Amino acid sequence: MSGDIRPFECAMCGQCCANQDLIQLTSYELFRLAERLNVPPAELFSRYCEIGATSLNPMIHMYLRTVEQRCPFLDGKLCSVHDARPYACRAYPKRQAYLTAGEMKTFVRSRYPMLEPTCDLFGLDDTVEMIGDADVLTDQTIAYMTDELYFNTIRPEQVDLTVPYDVTDSFLRDGLVREIVLTYLARPYLGSLADTPLTGIIAMTLQARVWGAGVSFVRQPSDIAVQEDARIGQYLLAKTDATSVEALRALVESGRMDLGRAFFTTAADGKARISAVYASASDKVAIGFQLEADASAVERLTNGGARPAYVFFLPEDGSSTKAVGLAVGG
Ligand code: SF4
Ligand code: SF4
Repeated sequence: MSGDIRPFECAMCGQCCANQDLIQLTSYELFRLAERLNVPPAELFSRYCEIGATSLNPMIHMYLRTVEQRCPFLDGKLCSVHDARPYACRAYPKRQAYLTAGEMKTFVRSRYPMLEPTCDLFGLDDTVEMIGDADVLTDQTIAYMTDELYFNTIRPEQVDLTVPYDVTDSFLRDGLVREIVLTYLARPYLGSLADTPLTGIIAMTLQARVWGAGVSFVRQPSDIAVQEDARIGQYLLAKTDATSVEALRALVESGRMDLGRAFFTTAADGKARISAVYASASDKVAIGFQLEADASAVERLTNGGARPAYVFFLPEDGSSTKAVGLAVGG
């Protein structure tokens, strides 16, 4: 893409803040806003927020409620919480490198036609690339993914917003995670972040935190094969480092492993990705692992999801021939 690179300059007309139904707000942002306003997060939530799906977004998220379409933090034409405003406000109308001003105008016209007379977006040439701030977009993506998984995949019996807040906070500080997210934001042809291992890692971390446990992860297996046993039928045999296998063995053989949860998702190349996390509630210890296997093999192993997939781990260095096994899902 090429063209004019005149940057977007907000004319501060306040129209985008005065014409919204709901403004997406993540748990992380709620805590940041509460700190800025010096009010307890629970009070901020009950005064201004709601959790639910919308006709435009069927996934459950948290939102700031507007009053007659005005954001409660709009003061005249200005934002009264500017330094702690939500990512949705920080990012608008810029997105990733592949979006042009022309495409953004089409979107805004369809949803918020009242912005056209005043928003600087409509003064830009259609070819301008709407390149957003990489740090803001990375933060926003991590916070959105975490909340989306918490509300829609983990679905805790009792919502505790400190859980997605803490998990978001730790991933925002993780350089490797930021690099992965930014790579996918800048190169949309790579596919969806939802199909990467990161989704399962965040889901397992959230699940462990819901159980009140700290989580560690088994190193990615170096070898995975489908094997058969007369008693349990087909199973997966995964080889990984000896330390990971011994940690799993300690948890399984402790007799106190009372919690487990598995997430089956799709990976690249027609593979199925299994993310599974197990914990001892009394010891507050959780261990998670991820492995990818041929999707049709997993379908067979689980009899189409009707029974658990049996997964056994062996140390790849041959230091033990005694496998440690788990029933995954089912
Ligand atoms: S938080 Fe601030 S920037 Fe965001 S919609 Fe409200 S007034 Fe506008
Ligand atoms: S409508 Fe556009 S110009 Fe007006 S405040 Fe919002 S972003 Fe700025």
